[in-house]
Amino acid sequence: MARFGYSEVDNYGAPKNNYFNLKDDGDSSIIRFLYNDENEIEGTTVHEIKVGDRTMDVECLRAYNEPVEKCPFCNANMPVSAKMYIPVYDESSKESKIWTRGKKFFDKIMNIAVRYRPLAGVPVEVIRNGRAGEKTTRYELMPRGEDRDNKKVIDFPEIKAEGMAFQVKSKEDMEYYLRNGAFPQDNQVQTRQDAQTGREMPVRGSYPRRTPNYGSEEDSF
Ligand SMILES: [Zn+2]
Repeated sequence: MARFGYSEVDNYGAPKNNYFNLKDDGDSSIIRFLYNDENEIEGTTVHEIKVGDRTMDVECLRAYNEPVEKCPFCNANMPVSAKMYIPVYDESSKESKIWTRGKKFFDKIMNIAVRYRPLAGVPVEVIRNGRAGEKTTRYELMPRGEDRDNKKVIDFPEIKAEGMAFQVKSKEDMEYYLRNGAFPQDNQVQTRQDAQTGREMPVRGSYPRRTPNYGSEEDSF
């Protein structure tokens, strides 16, 4: 699978449903967590930003113990979220997808990862407890040890969260965004010069229409 950036996503035709999601209370699915072992499980700190009508997660440039100046978005007091972009294989659709969860989910996956190696080798039933939009929604994870095989991550279609579920931007691009409300490589966004401030302003309605589905962000993490 070639990697492509957010601004190029429209060049790839109708997007597949790349995000794993259980819509309502009691819904369940069988998935594989696409990690070989617990060392591969990671979280990402991001800034949730708006580009026109779209929401975009942009990776924070600073570790928690580094000065705020390292990340222009932190320096501008923009809030940071710790998220997990979990690569999963959906057994029903036979596709690899990204499941976006909060950092509290770390322990849940870890508990299974320490019992099953490779982790991708055990099918896991996921059950949603909580109605659509409910903040207290929880997910129950039940590994099916009896159906375990020795499959590894390499045996499933590749999926990368970076460039799809979240973006990595340079310090310069972030500074550009703070001035202009858009990134320079968003070439579909037209800008005009504001007569009063002289700043480049994005023209409303010039954003790409397709909005990626970020999964169930109404859920509690
Ligand atoms: Zn930051």
